[in-house]
Amino acid sequence: MAGSSQGVFGRHAGHEQVVFCHDAPSGLRAIIAIYSTALGPGLGGTRFYPYASEDDALDDVLSLSKGMTYKNALAGLDHGGGKAVIIGDPATDKTEPLLRAYGRFVQSLNGRYITACDVGTYVEDMDVVARECRFVTGRSPENGGAGDSSVLTAYGVFQGMRACAEQVWGTPSLTGRRVGVSGVGKVGKHLVEHLLDDGADVTVTDIRPEAVATVQSRHPAVEVVDDNDALVRADIDLYAPCALGGVLTDRVAETLRAAIICGAANNQLAHAGVVKVLTDRGILYAPDYVVNSGGVIQVADEIGGFSFDRAKRKAAGIFATTQRVFQLSAKEGVPPAVAADQLAERRILEVGRLRQVWLPP
Ligand code: NAD
Repeated sequence: MAGSSQGVFGRHAGHEQVVFCHDAPSGLRAIIAIYSTALGPGLGGTRFYPYASEDDALDDVLSLSKGMTYKNALAGLDHGGGKAVIIGDPATDKTEPLLRAYGRFVQSLNGRYITACDVGTYVEDMDVVARECRFVTGRSPENGGAGDSSVLTAYGVFQGMRACAEQVWGTPSLTGRRVGVSGVGKVGKHLVEHLLDDGADVTVTDIRPEAVATVQSRHPAVEVVDDNDALVRADIDLYAPCALGGVLTDRVAETLRAAIICGAANNQLAHAGVVKVLTDRGILYAPDYVVNSGGVIQVADEIGGFSFDRAKRKAAGIFATTQRVFQLSAKEGVPPAVAADQLAERRILEVGRLRQVWLPP
């Protein structure tokens, strides 16, 4: 990642705005990063995490906000990319004054950044932030919000899987295929249901026994393996990383038996070079931010008054978007991850450019 020797502006290269938010009495230390507003206000969640250092927090928010810019662009949203991090342990440091102090800083940007949930923040936290701020999504349904975004994230990942199946097996169906889901938390457990409904066989793993037990009690036919290593070595057709980022290491790329990788986790590639190993082995990797945009589609819909059906229809579009990525990948002879970036950058340029046309106020 960027080092401090580059200087403050060198480190923020490409970002429009980075805001440090400090409220000593409540203990709030937050950073809001806006990478681009070319397509509209920056939209992205708030991560509440016990970073080892302030530098780690800054690196994370810079890369996450850039990622949201690409994700929102390819999802067809009128939103740029932004993200925020709050430094601290959500289990011990999250209080009403801290969340409300954070809300006031988000409000101070007057809509250039719109927040939502992320790791360590939940629907009920957004309800608290919203008491100080108008630019909040992911609130509870009783407060007019879209609620838990994992519902449409899982649905969107499933649409991405269908496009992968069509690309590799000639039919957009998972029937009779074995899918390995690593991580059956909020997204993974909904994904398992879509897969079973489509006639797939499912193998799961999770480090939390209670998460596995929940899935098994609802679906006794689901197979369980000990850990992610065992899942990677298992006889599966499709691998769905739905836990943490960085799971696609060189070793995983060299040993995986599945023909397709398509999952919800953000930033799955441990490093960019893994794409070449996957390509050489003929494994199709659906870029994570293309297929996991159902959640941001869900919360973006909240801004104009939430309609689940409308948001679901938009998330269904992830099937066609993933197809477009594969088509461009084949046409240009580049991996899908490169094709996805090209499509996102094209939309940011072509649609963002229209702001140059002056309109009377
Ligand atoms: P979650 O915390 O509810 O679930 C993650 C699950 O992974 C947990 O059950 C956890 O125990 C398990 N896990 C952690 N480490 C593991 C390991 N080494 N092996 C196996 N299991 C492990 O989170 P979530 O909301 O379901 O999100 C899952 C992933 O999808 C995250 O990377 C998240 O950033 C990404 N994502 C989520 C959304 C959303 O709407 N929730 C949207 C886009 C992307």
